[in-house]
Amino acid sequence: MEEKIVIDNIVIDVERKSIKNMYIRVYPPDGKVKMTVPKHCRIDNVKMFACSRISWINKQRAIMISSPIKAEPQYVSGEFHYLWGKKYIFEHIEGISNRVDIEADRIILQTKNGASREERERIMNQWYRQLLKAAIPDALGECAKIVGRSPKEWYVKNMRTRWGTCNPSKKRIWLNLQLVKKKPECLDYVITHELVHLYVRKHDDKFKAYMDRFYPDWRRVKKLLNEEL
Ligand SMILES: [Zn+2]
Repeated sequence: MEEKIVIDNIVIDVERKSIKNMYIRVYPPDGKVKMTVPKHCRIDNVKMFACSRISWINKQRAIMISSPIKAEPQYVSGEFHYLWGKKYIFEHIEGISNRVDIEADRIILQTKNGASREERERIMNQWYRQLLKAAIPDALGECAKIVGRSPKEWYVKNMRTRWGTCNPSKKRIWLNLQLVKKKPECLDYVITHELVHLYVRKHDDKFKAYMDRFYPDWRRVKKLLNEEL
C-alpha cells in the first residue's frame, strides 16, 4: 500500500521498512520527495519529522528545479524543456533512429550512435522548427485577418535577441524559433507586432495605437514573453 503525506504543499511518498530511523530523500530532476520510515512508525511522527526538515527539503527542491533551466541546455535526461509554454521533463535515450516524441509530461529524444551535444541540439531544434512551422500558417492567417495586412514571405530563424523582425518594403517577416517554447498567444502577439510594421516602421504612439486596436492584451503578453522560462 502506498502512503503519502502532504507538507507545505509538497507530496511526500512514505515507504515503510524494517529500519530504526527515518530518512528523507529529494530526487532529481523534479524534486520528488520520498521518506523511508520504520515499519510501525506512527504517521504523526512521520509528519512531524518531515515538518522539522521542511526548509532543507525546500532548499534541495529549489536547487534541482531551477538549476537546469538557467544553464545552457545540455540535452541530457532530467533537464526541463518547453513546448508551447508547457514544461516537460527531458529524456535522452539511445536507440536505432533519431526522433523526438512526447509522452505525457516527457519529451523523449532518441538518438543513434551516441549523439554529441551539438547533434542532440540540432535534432531538437529541427523538431521544434517543424512544430513552429506547422503552427504559423493558421496563426498568421488569423492575425492577418485582424490586422488587414499580410506578409509576402515568412521565415523561422533562431535569434538571440529578437522575437521577430520585419522588412516592410519587402513585406517579409522572420519569427524566432524560440517562440515554439512560449505560450501560443505569444506567437500571435509577435506576428501581430510584425504585421503592424507593415503600417508603421517605428515603435511610436501610432504603432501602439494599432497594437491596442488589433491585440488589446499585447502589454500582458509582451511581459509574459520576456519572462525567463
Ligand atoms: Zn518591432
